[in-house]
Amino acid sequence: MIKLSGNKLFRYLSVLLFLNSVTLPIKSSSDLAAWAIKANGILELRTKSNANLKAYFQKANQIYGDRFWVDFQGELKNPRTIKGNGPIKEIRLGKPKNGKTRLVVEFNEETYLNPLTWRMVGLDQNRWKIKLFNPQNSFEKIGEGLVKNRRDNIKANQKSIYKKKTDYDYLKLPEVKRNKFSVVIDPGHGGPDPGAIGIRGIRETDIVLEVSKIVANLLSKKGVKVFLTRKNEVDLALPPRVSFANNIDSDIFVSIHANASRGKRRDINGLETFYFRGWRGRLLAKRIQEQILRVSPGSPDRGVKQGRYYVIKNTRMPAVLVEIGFLTGRLDARRLEKRSHRKRLAYAITKGILEYLKKVG
Ligand SMILES: [Zn+2]
Repeated sequence: MIKLSGNKLFRYLSVLLFLNSVTLPIKSSSDLAAWAIKANGILELRTKSNANLKAYFQKANQIYGDRFWVDFQGELKNPRTIKGNGPIKEIRLGKPKNGKTRLVVEFNEETYLNPLTWRMVGLDQNRWKIKLFNPQNSFEKIGEGLVKNRRDNIKANQKSIYKKKTDYDYLKLPEVKRNKFSVVIDPGHGGPDPGAIGIRGIRETDIVLEVSKIVANLLSKKGVKVFLTRKNEVDLALPPRVSFANNIDSDIFVSIHANASRGKRRDINGLETFYFRGWRGRLLAKRIQEQILRVSPGSPDRGVKQGRYYVIKNTRMPAVLVEIGFLTGRLDARRLEKRSHRKRLAYAITKGILEYLKKVG
């Protein structure tokens, strides 16, 4: 079924229209339960039983690339944006209007698509699939939740329960040689510079100072010599943070920050870790990023990246700058406000540091 709007450039292709008699109350929770785009280019959805789905395709315009989206009944709790890879630019889960959920897949410019051949196939009462593209290069699976039914994949389900349990093993930290390593932890900002200000006024300086102190405490319990560049709300410029680390010649330098998005967009959340140079810096960033992601389920992985921040560029040892979430993001801010989550993040950062020291040191 093809719908044409007044402007013919905007061509909607209703990939399939499911109609049935079930009408849900407007304010019910989202019919979308889980989704995944597999490495073979197939999007799989799990919904409530007999859900009403509508799927559309729109060609690229000046603002957006080619987009495919599916509308569901019911509202999401956390609208969010998830970074894509390969042919997919990003996935957006949003609320086009009250009582509705929209899953948008936006493609990168160079992706070749053939939407005329697309068919959404119902696998059973609550599962659907549609082939969106043929992966030319590598594409890494993206998704949230378990798309398989419990009854038809008990093994996968057991695995996920097992995984959930082990997510809490963050409390177990690896052992390293005692009194061998020294680490500088740098809580970002401070004093008159509060850093990012987030939803409900939460301040970066407070959050990162607390997390840094817990990290320092955990590391010293493992026999690591730890130095904090600041221990309270003082105004500390960037050069002394760097020269301090360079003077004591610490093994590594870890600067802890929290993010804010331009325009304070609440749909932007996620974690990222920067390094400036060298495989050691990169490895340290990777280890920390892996661990902080584990304690922040659903928050997007913005990756390990090279960054030219002053403190990581001018320190002489492997140095990273970790962004533990967006204070302006709906999902991240709600978490960062909780002490329990800040503690989990501190454990995660500590674990990443210890894993690095164990491997390299
Ligand atoms: Zn910052």
